[in-house]
Amino acid sequence: MAAFSSLTDKLSSAFKHLKSKGKLSESDIDGTIREIRRALLDADVALSVVRSFTARIRERALGTEVSQSLNPVQQVVKIVNEELTDVLGAGVDRPLNFAKNPPTIIMLAGLQGAGKTTLAGKLGYWLKDSGHTPLLVAADLQRPNAVTQLQVVGERAGVPVYAPEKGVQSDGGEDVTVPGMTTGDPVKVARDAVELAKQKLYDTVIIDTAGRLGVDEELMKQARDIRDAVQPNEILFVIDAMIGQDAVQTAKAFDEGVDFTGVVLSKLDGDARGGAALSVASVTGKPILFTSTGEGLKDFEVFHPDRMASRILD
Ligand code: GDP
Repeated sequence: MAAFSSLTDKLSSAFKHLKSKGKLSESDIDGTIREIRRALLDADVALSVVRSFTARIRERALGTEVSQSLNPVQQVVKIVNEELTDVLGAGVDRPLNFAKNPPTIIMLAGLQGAGKTTLAGKLGYWLKDSGHTPLLVAADLQRPNAVTQLQVVGERAGVPVYAPEKGVQSDGGEDVTVPGMTTGDPVKVARDAVELAKQKLYDTVIIDTAGRLGVDEELMKQARDIRDAVQPNEILFVIDAMIGQDAVQTAKAFDEGVDFTGVVLSKLDGDARGGAALSVASVTGKPILFTSTGEGLKDFEVFHPDRMASRILD
């Protein structure tokens, strides 16, 4: 994965220095841990995360774990793999939480440009492909183009969009008038969309919300109002892997602001160092559920911490 290629290279070189060793001394382990620490910091992983991560690895590597089948180097790699899985997953690997009684309501939150609208299309496409009947909801009334953008995305994905603009619902290209629909109030849009989903038996409602360039209280309040009005089963915080160290502060602000339930890492196809995004699960204790790896509808994956750890350590 592009975002982690440099991290992967550096970690593998840290292990390479161990490869010639039959038995590891404390100083071998400390040397390797120093290299791991530098690799993680270079990749923008948050300092607090690096500290606790390397402390656990050191403790376990020096500890009494003795394996018949693994040599000492393999044991260190195994420990790093397990700890990385833990950091990436906040100790959890869980699927999307579907409602017992549909519709399942998924709300997207994050900064402007994080990739929410694009994700709405991917998620809708993925759900439709697995037999669901999703409805996308344009509750980002902040940005003039946002509604149109979601309609374009919905059309590409072949997923209907509930949009306030002009009081229409675009249904795979065909516009349907939605009586009584108002413009301007994202909370009402979200609430009306859920009602429509109940009537028309859409089983999943994906609500795209407004994002600003920076975290601000007005934005948080609006997101909270939408949340309180429709009580989502999932609130997904979408974070651009390219934003570097700001990721941790942004994630904390959204966690306090809307108490999101899961994270989506977007733009993992970019060249950025990606590590800050890797800190998000650990810092917030919320699991990463999906990754977004491009602009196409299929550039989207369900996230599994163990698989990502193995990929990073590959
Ligand atoms: P929003 O403001 O949060 O709704 O963000 P958008 O969905 O509009 O995405 C902002 C920009 O990032 C758009 O140009 C998208 O095409 C692009 N984008 C979104 N997700 C990805 C991704 O995973 N990889 C890449 N390379 N670009 C993405």
